[in-house]
Parts: sequence; structure tokens; C-alpha cells
Amino acid sequence: MKKIIALVEDEPDIVELISIHLEKAGYEVKSFLDGKSFYRFLEKKVPDLLVLDLMLPDIDGLEICKHIRKNDATASMSIIMLTAKSEEMDKILGLELGADDYVTKPFSPKELVARVKAVLRRHAPVKESKKLEIHDIVIDLEKYGVSQGGKQIDLTPTEFKILELLASKKGWVFTREQILDHLWGDEKAVIDRTVDVHIRHLREKLGTSAKMIKNIRGVGYKLEE
Ligand code: CA
Repeated sequence: MKKIIALVEDEPDIVELISIHLEKAGYEVKSFLDGKSFYRFLEKKVPDLLVLDLMLPDIDGLEICKHIRKNDATASMSIIMLTAKSEEMDKILGLELGADDYVTKPFSPKELVARVKAVLRRHAPVKESKKLEIHDIVIDLEKYGVSQGGKQIDLTPTEFKILELLASKKGWVFTREQILDHLWGDEKAVIDRTVDVHIRHLREKLGTSAKMIKNIRGVGYKLEE
């Protein structure tokens, strides 16, 4: 079955260009020139991935992003933002609001197709595999167990959830906000720095693999070999 890509973009030329390339790559494309018509579609069908322009005539792309992440039915949908602005702030804000990736205009359609493939690939294995392995860390998602270098280590549920999140997208930078969301969802009432504390504990327990958790200054954390 073909994967369905929704495209929300108000410039017809760009819609045509992107559609042609995505269809050629084997995807089914549903395009929308504004946010409202996309919302109507969303009530009937949840696409596998959304290519979302930030500057739309009716609804702000960042609002759409937030809306999708808040809704249970659509929360796990992949989102790639299209932005005409090259400012770092918009990208970070978009990622904080839950976009998986972004492409800055002007872009090559081939690059966009490559990003679409990468995001869909990144999304898939997390649901299917029961174990995540990164270097010498093995996370058993069924038994909630973690081993490092073949030795079992005891993590608190919070530490486990943070490690699981970081390991779900290797090399991907998660903001403190995203980590807090993953831990507590809407119930979060804790300050930013609690994440740093959990991360410190996690590092202590990971022994020689501690350095795989990297701090990205001013943004958050990632797990990398
Ligand atoms: Ca636009």
C-alpha cells in the first residue's frame, strides 16, 4: 500500500513541483492550499507524513503543528516543515512544537524526497522492534530492562523513559521541553532543570557509555555513538 503524504502549501507552483517528485518516488500525495481544508481532510484520514508550509493564508503552520501533536489520533504523524525563513529560531520552535524535520526554501525537490524517506524510515522501527541497541547499550522495550556492556543496570522509570526517547532517534537533538512532554505530557509542572538532573543520574549509571549522551548547549540532549 502506498504511503500517504499530505502537503499543505499555498503556492500552486511549489505544490505541483513537490507532488510530481513525491508521486514519482511512490507516494500518494494529497495537497491543500490552506490549513482549514487540511483540517477537514484530517477528520477522515490521517496521512503517514505531512509536509507543512509555515506561512499559510489562514492558519499559522506552527499552530497546525501544535494541533497535530496535541490530538491523540494524529500525534504520531511525521511532520516536515517548509520554511522560507532561514532563522534558527523558527526551526527550533518548529522542532519544539513537534516537527520531525525541516527544509528551508528554496530547496531541491530531490532533497525533500530524501528527507521524507528518512523521516518515514526513522519513524518505522521504533514501533516494530522490541529492543533498541545503541553501541553497547541494549534497551528492552517489553521488559523495561537496560543493559550496558552486557551488564544489567537499574534505572528509575523516569531515567528509562528519557533513555528510551533519546535512543528512539539516534543523533536527534531533543529539547528539554520535548523530554518533559515525553515524561509527563500535559501534567508537567516542573522546571526545565529537572531534565538535567535525570540526565546526570542516567549518565552515572551508564558507566563507560555515559559520553554517548551529549548536551547541545541551549537546546537539549541527544544520544550518539
Ligand atoms: Ca506559503
